[in-house]
Amino acid sequence: MQQALKQSEKLAHMGQLSAGIAHELNNPLGVVLMYSNILLDECKPDDPLRKDLELISTQAERCKKIVSGLLNFARKNQVKIEQINLKKLAEDSIAGVVIPKNIKTNIVCRTSNLMANVDYEQMMQVLTNLNKNAVEAMPNGGILSVIIEGDDNEVTISVSDTGEGIPEENMDKLFTPFFTTKGIGKGTGLGLATTYGIVKMHKGKIEVESNADKSKGPTGTTFKISLPRNSGINFSDNN
Ligand code: ADP
Ligand code: MG
Repeated sequence: MQQALKQSEKLAHMGQLSAGIAHELNNPLGVVLMYSNILLDECKPDDPLRKDLELISTQAERCKKIVSGLLNFARKNQVKIEQINLKKLAEDSIAGVVIPKNIKTNIVCRTSNLMANVDYEQMMQVLTNLNKNAVEAMPNGGILSVIIEGDDNEVTISVSDTGEGIPEENMDKLFTPFFTTKGIGKGTGLGLATTYGIVKMHKGKIEVESNADKSKGPTGTTFKISLPRNSGINFSDNN
């Protein structure tokens, strides 16, 4: 508990700091990107400067990805709590992610009460992050499942994959900002940190179960989000 509190305080501080930095970087970065692309357009294919310009442009693109990840991570602007149908949310989130042909998706509802008081945009961000990670963990194909369950007290949404799994030693670093195993230029390590912040904001919790060791059965990962049916956050908190 103590540990959990420390973690969320640390994330709140990091959120404020990164929002400030990301905001300041956004405009100058846009200018670098725009001018490098203008110069690239004017450059002949055999111009010796072309390679350098391409490097500026791709690296500025990369910075933009990090900055937009930071802005999402830090986003604390208007919370808009509404009654949302979680099945529809799950469908929308899967529709928004590029799913390769070798990955099957399914949505399973094990409760008749699919409604929850949540911020649609922010929960979309949560499910999108989890779906993307699931897809990225299954380069050779597999199954992505979103399972919605619930009782009178809480509703849970689990995102499960049959992918590579998470090694034991990485389990307690997952929600730390910038922790990524995807290599430079690929992952930002902000998806799960952002997810954690949004789930906390909804007074929910997030748990992970994973097996990366083939000798211990099928590999794969499940992220399970539990949201209280009555979180105490209500429509009047919208500001
Ligand atoms: P990113 O996707 O940019 O690396 P995330 O915060 O989304 O950052 O994830 C952090 C790390 O957690 C990933 O780099 C990966 O090592 C691990 N991870 C997250 N989800 C999964 C998953 N479904 N299967 C395997 N590893 C995962
Ligand atoms: Mg990710």
